[in-house]
Amino acid sequence: MGRSIYFFGGGQADGDAQQKELLGGKGAGLAEMTRLGIPVPPGFTVTTEVCNAYYAAGRALPAGVEDEIRAAIGRLEPLLDARFGSAEAPLLVSVRSGARASMPGMMDTILNLGLNDEIVRGLAKRTGSERFALDAYRRFILTYADIVLGVPRDRFEEALGRARKQAAARLGVDATRLNAAELERKVPDSLLDPESLAALIQRQKDIVLGATGRPFPDDPHAQLWGAIRAVFDSWKNHRAQVYRKMHDIPEAWGTACNVQAMVFGNLGDDSGTGVAFTRDPSTGERRFYGEWLPNAQGEDVVAGVRTPHPLSRSGAGDGVDDARSLEAQMPEVYAELVEVQATLERHFRDMQDLEFTIQQKKLFLLQCRTGKRTGRAAVRIAVEMAKEGLISQREAILRVDPGSIDQLLHPSIDPSAPKKLLARGLPASPGAATGQVVFSADEAERRAGQGKAVILVRSETSPEDIHGMKAARGILTARGGMTSHAAVVARGMGKSCVAGCSAISVSQGQMAVTLYDDHGHPTDTITVKAGDLITLDGGTGTVYLGAVPTVPAALSGEFEELMVWADAVRRLRVRSNADTPHDARTARNFGAEGIGLCRTEHMFFDEERIQAMREMILADGEAGRRRALAKLLPFQRGDFVGVFREMAGLPVTIRLLDPPLHEFLPQDEAQLHQLSKAMGVPAQDLSRKNEELVEYNPMLGHRGCRLAITSPEIYEMQARAIVEAACEVAAAGIEVEPEIMIPLSMTRRELAITRALVEGVAEKVFAEKGRRVDVRFGTMIELPRAALVAGELAEEAEFFSFGTNDLTQTALGISRDDAGRFLGAYVEAGIFARDPFQSLDVAGVGELVEIGRDRGRAARPGLKLGVCGEHGGDPSSIAFFERAGLDYVSCSPFRVPVARLAAAQAALAAESARGPRATD
Ligand code: ADP
Ligand code: MG
Ligand code: MG
Repeated sequence: MGRSIYFFGGGQADGDAQQKELLGGKGAGLAEMTRLGIPVPPGFTVTTEVCNAYYAAGRALPAGVEDEIRAAIGRLEPLLDARFGSAEAPLLVSVRSGARASMPGMMDTILNLGLNDEIVRGLAKRTGSERFALDAYRRFILTYADIVLGVPRDRFEEALGRARKQAAARLGVDATRLNAAELERKVPDSLLDPESLAALIQRQKDIVLGATGRPFPDDPHAQLWGAIRAVFDSWKNHRAQVYRKMHDIPEAWGTACNVQAMVFGNLGDDSGTGVAFTRDPSTGERRFYGEWLPNAQGEDVVAGVRTPHPLSRSGAGDGVDDARSLEAQMPEVYAELVEVQATLERHFRDMQDLEFTIQQKKLFLLQCRTGKRTGRAAVRIAVEMAKEGLISQREAILRVDPGSIDQLLHPSIDPSAPKKLLARGLPASPGAATGQVVFSADEAERRAGQGKAVILVRSETSPEDIHGMKAARGILTARGGMTSHAAVVARGMGKSCVAGCSAISVSQGQMAVTLYDDHGHPTDTITVKAGDLITLDGGTGTVYLGAVPTVPAALSGEFEELMVWADAVRRLRVRSNADTPHDARTARNFGAEGIGLCRTEHMFFDEERIQAMREMILADGEAGRRRALAKLLPFQRGDFVGVFREMAGLPVTIRLLDPPLHEFLPQDEAQLHQLSKAMGVPAQDLSRKNEELVEYNPMLGHRGCRLAITSPEIYEMQARAIVEAACEVAAAGIEVEPEIMIPLSMTRRELAITRALVEGVAEKVFAEKGRRVDVRFGTMIELPRAALVAGELAEEAEFFSFGTNDLTQTALGISRDDAGRFLGAYVEAGIFARDPFQSLDVAGVGELVEIGRDRGRAARPGLKLGVCGEHGGDPSSIAFFERAGLDYVSCSPFRVPVARLAAAQAALAAESARGPRATD
């Protein structure tokens, strides 16, 4: 282990921004800001290595660390002209967690450490405010008891309530009929007078003694050791573990611990605290953006207890000049902050998220980190920064998480739909979401588990709610600002969130909503209960009653631009899976370069067609089957004409019938009788036939090209429909590129038979129409045997498409339809890092893909290789397909932009793996 402590202060720092692994993001940021000459309260960082050593030793601080910490405190004292543990010139510190990756609110931080009964008197003298000193002390006891001593916060609530009542009595406020929330509003913390606070402190200490059997620790050093341990312990608390799992953060990283001199934002109205973003984290707009609270400390802004004010006069963005803004209240401090934020953004070359505190008009920065942002903001910021010359186009491409742009492609509230406005709050995280109201995280998780869409409604959220937020479609809070916990977490998750909606109040399992008229006068109150439907529009901060229809996404200019840049560096082609002309158009609008999988079976489910399909399946003998197929032919041809027209000039891969036939059969008695009438066949005969078709294991049964081996007329009809459609569209002067794909092949002979069949039909059609079109013939590779004998298959096939859904299913021997019962446990236990049906199992299935590629290309150089299946739209799988040198991926229409970006990033990664470029 290297050194344990990295000091920062007085314009110098041992560490810097590069050392996130060792110092955590917070520690590295504090060091870097200090180096830049930005005002930061001095302090030091205990490294993540110490945290790991602490766990390795069974939760004990390694030898020598305590001495190093004492020495570092010794270095702090002269900088502040104060002493830790002294009553004359008390030095208070905060003890702050901070891991390599930001985990907002997941771990613990303790403020105002270093107080006892004697020192608090010194603090009062030094600051000239007894009230302030006592308030700091009681807050410290509360957090320390909760975090270090394991006496939960709510055990102190009654004592706090009593103090408020005492203060109320002194203020002449009648508190008899007020509930806790009302009492807090009437007597906020700032109105607690010294006597009530002193009594409260004594009561808090009694509670600690009662709960732990020991007095609250008086010795500042003892407090410090306890706090440092607690910060390390918080790395493994429940909510941090949940968060790590969600964001793939390894447990082995550990957290650093920052000990830093306190500055006080609660020393009066010339003090305050706030958070800021160098650009708008919701829209990405380039404007300095943030919130603050006067006379407040640390967590007050994020905790959402008081709704904060904007930083700039025009902060609310509605043209109203806000007199409560920092700009209006303290113009010099605001100007300094604007300068600091500009310096930081230029230095880090990315949007920064800042925490600051103002102590009696003096500005201090307490944190800076790369700001979390919505997908929309990520795109806009990356593109604009590239245009401003701050970053290169390549960096811009790499800056946007492909997963996050998914949100941009999803529908928003239909502006013309009738809707009932319920309330307005802050537009905390964009997107439309409809769901049943739930009032607790557990309930959200429970109902979501039953497949319900839910909206989590809370007064405010806290890190304990994280599992419920994850389960919900959207989040609505009554209190808190744009940087409240709910807002920050929702943006990170890409979920719709309306925060600080003051018209609602939540209690006892229901929400009361005050309705207002146009002049802002309350007109009525209505009650919304658990299970009622509401709709959130997180982009405007609006809440509607009931379900409101949505409209498809419109892509912004920046988004198009980023896609153009991505397309310029990408090697993999991106196609889409689309079964209908409508899907084909959507896919093309999103930039698809062809259709990689057109499933023909979905075309059979229409009312008029399913009947013919059933007749075909249940017919006795070939003649009956052909009669039924003849009815289907015009439908199929019509569908293909539509798809070819939409995809003019681009390849369209059509897969012939794949699923087991029983999927098309009547599901109930009524359907059976209707069919019997239509076919003139007794119902019993039909139901016997129905039973004959039942398979024990249909996924491994009579399906795919096996259907064509026993009943070639099905594929014949489909081939005819495709080729006729292609000729028809070509005759209209539109370029067509049909590709016929055989599913589930595993032997060369299967392909030889189906190929002869398809080619035979094609020749006939060409003769009939007097025109030829190029029709390519290929197969899916979705069985391990197919990958192994790919060399033989390639002799018959001009292209392969890896059907990675079935290939995963058959390679792993795991049925996709039954995997839900245990795959979760497999991921939990770390057997699979991710669900192999979502993210390709590179070691196993990936190896089959590579074998198929090598053997196929060896037999037929230039063999075209693609992927269809869920993995075609999954960024990490796409990275593998790029490395594997496939020609294209195919994914659902809405994933096309995601795949384009992921493919570009994969290409850039492959390029930098090959070595540095000459330019850029
Ligand atoms: P988190 O990681 O949850 O944001 P922090 O360690 O940043 O936790 O601290 C929580 C709050 O306390 C923040 O608002 C921070 O600005 C404030 N804070 C931390 N250290 C100090 C300090 N030395 N002086 C004043 N405020 C502080
Ligand atoms: Mg913080
Ligand atoms: Mg398949």
